[in-house]
Amino acid sequence: MEVLHTIDPCRMAIHHMQREGKRVGLVPTMGALHEGHLSLIRAARETCDTVAVSIFVNPTQFSPGEDYASYPKTMESDLEACRSALVDLVFTPTVDVMYPSKDDKTRVHVAGLTEGLCGANRPGHFDGVTTVVAKLFNIMPADVAFFGEKDYQQLMVINKMVDDLNIPIKIVGCPIVREKDGLALSSRNAYLSQDERRQARCLSRALFDAQKQIEAGVSDTATLCEGMRKVIDDAGPAEIDYITIVDAASLVPLSRMDRPARICMAVRIGPCRLIDNVGVDVPA
Ligand code: AMP
Repeated sequence: MEVLHTIDPCRMAIHHMQREGKRVGLVPTMGALHEGHLSLIRAARETCDTVAVSIFVNPTQFSPGEDYASYPKTMESDLEACRSALVDLVFTPTVDVMYPSKDDKTRVHVAGLTEGLCGANRPGHFDGVTTVVAKLFNIMPADVAFFGEKDYQQLMVINKMVDDLNIPIKIVGCPIVREKDGLALSSRNAYLSQDERRQARCLSRALFDAQKQIEAGVSDTATLCEGMRKVIDDAGPAEIDYITIVDAASLVPLSRMDRPARICMAVRIGPCRLIDNVGVDVPA
């Protein structure tokens, strides 16, 4: 496994793979790798000839006051996990490599899709994401890139960016990997105390309850969201950022379940802002 820290050798390595006729899969991450990340690497392994992973905690997607400085860093075990997962290339640049001038003037902004959900309370977050992903796509011009549905809004935003900017990389979304009790895996789960970890099950429980009610014919989204709020509130002290049911493609909030939708939530429990979502179809 090659581990590269600078841009030109990384771009050359990807080009070299492609000149050999290999289909290159890319998995962008911020490290602190867990089974969710590994599921993306496995998806890449299954459908591509070579797999590249980026590990970079991107400062421009954190708002002031967020956890940039304390974001978990586990580089040694991340590299070991990549090696075990038969990754061919890891790109792990420093902030100075990615943002050398500290005076960069360009941001990629996807309008509309970034305004609601996490965009409403994390100003600049998605511009940071799309900018760094566009930079990574230029440095690592893979054939396919793999993203998790865990960050559903991010997946939709990146799809739109690639479409609008004619970036010749196919985007593949991968299902959410969960703990046995339903909690979606996240690098930030490490911040939870034992009690908070137990309480955090309430997110997936609320989502799956709502999913069942929709299957049983409940269609009014206000009623469904009220039910989910109650599940979260009953589980212990938590601060609900949002709980909403949106059109699965446009992310516009729905008042009735009349098309394919995504139930999305962000809830703060202790020091941790947790996000989760499930897909729901209109029952037959
Ligand atoms: P991050 O390191 O948190 O930026 O995540 C890197 C990639 O892994 C993103 O595409 C995430 O959506 C994806 N990911 C994170 N957690 C999970 C999970 N539990 N299941 C599936 N994909 C995930």
